[in-house]
Amino acid sequence: MSAQDHAQPAPDAVLPGQTVKHNPLLDFSGLPDYAQVRPEHVQPAISQLIAEARQALAQATDPSTPARWETVVDPLSVATERLSRAWGMASHLNAVADTPALREAFNAALPEITEFWTELGADARLYAQYKRLHASLAFTALSPTRQRIIEHALRDFRLGGAELQGADRQRYAQIQERSAALAQRFSENLLDATNAFTLHAQADAVTGIPDDVLHTAQDEAAKAGKPGFLFTLHQPCYFPVMQYAQGRALRERMYRAYVSRASELGDPALDNSPVMAELLQLRDEEARLLGFANFAELSLEPKMADSPEAVEKFLLDLARRARPYAERDLRDLRSFAAEHLGLPELAAWDIAYASERLREARYAYSEQEVRQYFTEPQVLAGLFDLVQTLFGIRIREDDASSGGAWHPEVALWRVENQQGELIGQFYTDLHARPGKRSGAWMDDARARWLRPGRHLQTPIALLTCNFAAPVDGKPALLTHDDVQTLFHEFGHGLHHLLTQVDDLSASGISGVEWDAVELPSQFMENFCWEWDVLQRLT
Ligand SMILES: [Zn+2]
Repeated sequence: MSAQDHAQPAPDAVLPGQTVKHNPLLDFSGLPDYAQVRPEHVQPAISQLIAEARQALAQATDPSTPARWETVVDPLSVATERLSRAWGMASHLNAVADTPALREAFNAALPEITEFWTELGADARLYAQYKRLHASLAFTALSPTRQRIIEHALRDFRLGGAELQGADRQRYAQIQERSAALAQRFSENLLDATNAFTLHAQADAVTGIPDDVLHTAQDEAAKAGKPGFLFTLHQPCYFPVMQYAQGRALRERMYRAYVSRASELGDPALDNSPVMAELLQLRDEEARLLGFANFAELSLEPKMADSPEAVEKFLLDLARRARPYAERDLRDLRSFAAEHLGLPELAAWDIAYASERLREARYAYSEQEVRQYFTEPQVLAGLFDLVQTLFGIRIREDDASSGGAWHPEVALWRVENQQGELIGQFYTDLHARPGKRSGAWMDDARARWLRPGRHLQTPIALLTCNFAAPVDGKPALLTHDDVQTLFHEFGHGLHHLLTQVDDLSASGISGVEWDAVELPSQFMENFCWEWDVLQRLT
């Protein structure tokens, strides 16, 4: 089967007047075509989709429209899902393929889309429609899933400011817009500060650092027209340097640069301190506007934990139990470092280095040595093998060219049931590179949804990591930490992909209490410690 066979356009895929062939952000017929997205596509697509969503909102809240699932929830979902998907594409590219032009286009559209979501979430007429639906006989005939979606929606209207009036309502909207801009600014500052730092070193200062890291650092130096090595704060460089560099001065400079990124200790233009201070103040104000004592209370309202006190009690209890073991480990590490490494005072930049030496000495275990066994293709094959056995599914590589990927290293995979029917697809983008945010995450590009009109839309997930890229055409090598990260994100991906829920607002990761969303990911992590599984990965 080809990648296209599932992609008959949904009945509503192309609205009249859309210029699908010109703007990939307005094409919902198949896989998202990331490769074709240009910065100039963002604003027109978002404006058009917001206009369409406003139309749907006007229709859903018209006095003549009955308060029913089919007349209110369905048509609005159709319009807002398109907006979410288009914006999701722009956001994803902003996170993994940042360019000055795309960033500008993203930021230009951000206030408009934030304003729309804020208005929608607080729309008094729509809130009234949902309340009517909730109170009607039709509600009792809805499936338990749909009843829950309506109840969540009513809660979200309250938390979205739908009960606020006058100046409070205006202020609430201002807070949303400002917070969205600040959150984006925070990420930009962090990315820019990470990219801005390089450390140039000569051969005599790099003893202990693994060959492949040095190889990359040498390439970086050559690109900058310098001899020697150029180290960066990107994860595949930073972590091995901290674990292996024998030169303490080098570790200290790297450590200080890393922990003070985007802080008051660096370039004032990239300082996130005022950004955080203002965000905190806005969160507090927002919580009080909505009648909560503080933001923690507001944040917990849609979560499983009952109260800030319960969260604090849990954390303090955990800390109390863990602390003696952590203190024992630290004592152990200190005496090892003093005795064997000539480090009588263990500084923050010595911890990773000394820990690695201790592991080597005591358990004959070297993270670096273990890496050679975890080649990326083998780890992926083992992971897929495991989930195929666990969940009775099949995973195979799909043709990413039909839905253009944003980078040549990106792969597309399809998940099928035993009969070969498509369940969902996911993209993997595993290696660090400039213009890509650090860390690892799973995002949804499209959710499973039995659309109005009974067309089943299959889910698409995005798995993003920041592992070291392959060197010299050899397969990329993962650390055991990387393997855990991959399993973790894959757990989120499975949560999103294997959902059997047909309703958009409750399928996959949607509608899940956010303090429970780590369950599938941590479940998958456990397998990284199973010998049977490890054998399949190596
Ligand atoms: Zn997670």
